[in-house]
Amino acid sequence: MTTPSPEMEFMPRHKFQELISVLEQQGYTCIGPQVREQTIHYDTLHHVNSLPQGMSDVQAPGHYRLKNSGHERYFAWANGPQALKPLMFPPSEPLWKSVGETKGEMKFHEILPDKKPLAVIGVRSCDIAALYIHDRHFLQHGYRDPYYLVRRDGLLLIAVNCTHPAETCFCVSTGDGPSASYGYDLLLTELDDGFVIQAHTEKGVSIRQQLELTRATAAQLETANKAMAQSKQQQKRHLPSQNLSSRFMQNLTHPRWQEIAGRCLSCGNCTSVCPTCFCHSEAEDPALDGTHSVHFRQWDSCFGQKHSYIHGFTIRSDTGLRYRQWMTHKLGTWHQQFGRSGCVGCGRCIAWCPAGIDFTEEAGIICEGKERD
Ligand code: SF4
Ligand code: SF4
Repeated sequence: MTTPSPEMEFMPRHKFQELISVLEQQGYTCIGPQVREQTIHYDTLHHVNSLPQGMSDVQAPGHYRLKNSGHERYFAWANGPQALKPLMFPPSEPLWKSVGETKGEMKFHEILPDKKPLAVIGVRSCDIAALYIHDRHFLQHGYRDPYYLVRRDGLLLIAVNCTHPAETCFCVSTGDGPSASYGYDLLLTELDDGFVIQAHTEKGVSIRQQLELTRATAAQLETANKAMAQSKQQQKRHLPSQNLSSRFMQNLTHPRWQEIAGRCLSCGNCTSVCPTCFCHSEAEDPALDGTHSVHFRQWDSCFGQKHSYIHGFTIRSDTGLRYRQWMTHKLGTWHQQFGRSGCVGCGRCIAWCPAGIDFTEEAGIICEGKERD
């Protein structure tokens, strides 16, 4: 039997609105999962009624569907297309504005986002792992990106352990889930009648204290632990290993790259939904009257024709080379850059690929010569 611990409390379902109110009283804008355009999407959340109660999802290569299962739970689904990425690193954002002055002079004005502390409810362990990769990229490689920093500074995370992984999930194989073990302020494990709740930071403790909860019982902890053990066992997909650098280097001319190229549309959906992809391009948006111009950045993808264009020459001119770049970087050379793989096993690139290309299956074929049964 699991021993009750003072750090583990129980929050009955009817207290969830109180949690949202406490966060709002502390100055946070709450962001939470909601059903939008038949997907689970993160948006501003004021009321518990907006949560996707009763919803479940079915995911497979090239397939994502929501269905109402009629249960009471708020989080009985795996991730939708959106991770934390668009909240911290928006698809498009202005960086600075140049304004023409008299006598031909020009002035530059930085456009920093407003400081707005966000509390994101329902974050999964794979997306916390992806956030930490982005922290390294945007803040710890000798340059602190001020746009990312403003958003990241005020971020409070209320994570949820994944009790209902999708068929496309493989975070067990990458070591990033389904339980959250770091990076959150509060962690919830959902049961039928409420949540086992634990705090990981002082901010988390202060929020939990305001809710006046009771200690979780041994039976509640046992149920939560069983749910997480089951969730782990449900995952069937896996990668051949967490570091595939050398295996890819031995297989750069594998015929499978061209076979994938015959199916891949080079649409870039996989890189858009991937929580760790951070490539972007920059462009200028000049005013028609010539008075000013706004310089902005926008997400880019290694699947785009222009992405590898340098001085009159496109390095990766065909889709096979682009897919190879995406996969060998993500699962291989990323290790040299970040000390880990660039994949957190969320499975989004599998579900949202219109051609149904399965990242784990292709990695298995190229690195191990194995097709899935
Ligand atoms: S792998 Fe799929 S999602 Fe990615 S570019 Fe090709 S077709 Fe699009
Ligand atoms: S490569 Fe695919 S499974 Fe891995 S983190 Fe990116 S979207 Fe998720």
